[in-house]
Amino acid sequence: MSVENKTQEKIIIFDTTLRDGEQAPGATMNIEEKLLIAKALEKMGVDVIEAGFACASNGDFEAVNRIAKTIKNSTICSLARAKKNDIEKAALAVKPANSSRIHTFIATSPIHMEFKLKMSPQQVLEAIKDSVTLARNLCAQVDWSPEDATRSDHDFLFKAIEVAIQSGANTINIPDTVGYTTPEEYFALITSIKNNVSNIDKAIISAHCHDDLGLGVANSLSAIRAGARQIECTINGIGERAGNAALEEIVMAIKTRNDFYKISCDIDTTMISRVSKLVSSITGFAVQYNKAIVGANAFAHESGIHQDGILKNRSTYEIMSPQSVGLEKTSLTLGKLSGRSAFKDRLKDLGYEISDELLKQAFNRFKDLADKKKEISNEDLVALVDNSIVHNQSHFELTNLEINCGTKKQAQVKLKIRIDSKEVETTFVSKDGPVDAIFSAISEAIPHDASLELYQVQAVTQGTDAQAIVVVRLKQNNRIFSANGADTDVLVASAVAYINCLDKLKNKKE
Ligand SMILES: [Zn+2]
Repeated sequence: MSVENKTQEKIIIFDTTLRDGEQAPGATMNIEEKLLIAKALEKMGVDVIEAGFACASNGDFEAVNRIAKTIKNSTICSLARAKKNDIEKAALAVKPANSSRIHTFIATSPIHMEFKLKMSPQQVLEAIKDSVTLARNLCAQVDWSPEDATRSDHDFLFKAIEVAIQSGANTINIPDTVGYTTPEEYFALITSIKNNVSNIDKAIISAHCHDDLGLGVANSLSAIRAGARQIECTINGIGERAGNAALEEIVMAIKTRNDFYKISCDIDTTMISRVSKLVSSITGFAVQYNKAIVGANAFAHESGIHQDGILKNRSTYEIMSPQSVGLEKTSLTLGKLSGRSAFKDRLKDLGYEISDELLKQAFNRFKDLADKKKEISNEDLVALVDNSIVHNQSHFELTNLEINCGTKKQAQVKLKIRIDSKEVETTFVSKDGPVDAIFSAISEAIPHDASLELYQVQAVTQGTDAQAIVVVRLKQNNRIFSANGADTDVLVASAVAYINCLDKLKNKKE
């Protein structure tokens, strides 16, 4: 493994988990969740955080604005279409940030211009001039994207980029919107932009790749070789359809193969594992076991020959260390007798800075957990604290659950839920098992018209005393919401997840 050279050129890491990532069906996040992810991205050293699409709704505006007010060390960006109102809203939302940016776009491919925009190429060029000029008047940093660039006519694309730079864009992002390009073709496209756009030296070239053909990361790395100096990516590769290029894969590729790429970035890679888990737990999108860098098996060695080699010298079969992505195996000492200051210290090590009020709540939940489970791992703590933070201001709370079930009887459930300030009790009997009985009882207490899209159970750690994380996804009016619940009792976790998801639905309505 090579060591990065301080004089190397730097890649700007532009994370769009909160914007493109949130566009994945079911990945809807509330403001508290977005803030939590934004803080983790800032701590990990992300240069630019695309916090959302301010014009999309009041909630989106509020989220971008809160992030802009809170985050100090990353640039905060909002997406905007080539429309006056979009750009003005974006500018207003990011204004409080120490460093702010507007990312505006318009499609340049013949198919998008004709069928979607219903505009002639000349009208599109005028729209670029007007939108970028306005954005630049309102914000010093303007990122401009020709949507569907990889299917655009090259001569028209060069002209469009030239107009955008003349109008004040300082970053030119080349999106492979539909995940259609290949590494060689994308390399050639970026090279031809460098050779044919007269004023390209006045802007930074950026890559934005989707993974429809599984080439998102390969295309992004190819762009770096061609001269791109900003990469747009997401944690765990979440995003529209097959997702975006994964941040962790790009960062570890340029770090591990620094001998080849000879370029650096400011990401603290030891935060990768932690941030991946946070995004997975908030969105309810589980990470596949064999996923590069952050999958549960990414550093597991099973075969005898490999294990033997690893024991003799780790680099026989290991190109990166688990520690480099934050998978440090700390000997676990937190338990029933651990005090509040040990708890607080451990949270600090894990990257949490939370208010005293939240600390108090989380500590109480920790004590409850320690009563049921002897050793509490970092994974357990992450699940517990994320749940405390995310479900802090809830309308609904499970206060009691009793279940009677078995091989020869119907499942009987009695539960109590606090609904704002009053408590409601319901019972339900089901021949379809305890989970069905729980969900039916909850639906009686909190009537709704959403349909269940997904019910999924994951264990946080190994062992029969492991905490379970249950993910529930509900669909209402074509919008999908996910939420989770964590508990050593899988049925309690199921009830909490379902209630948390209904809470999200209610908050979204408000
Ligand atoms: Zn995209």
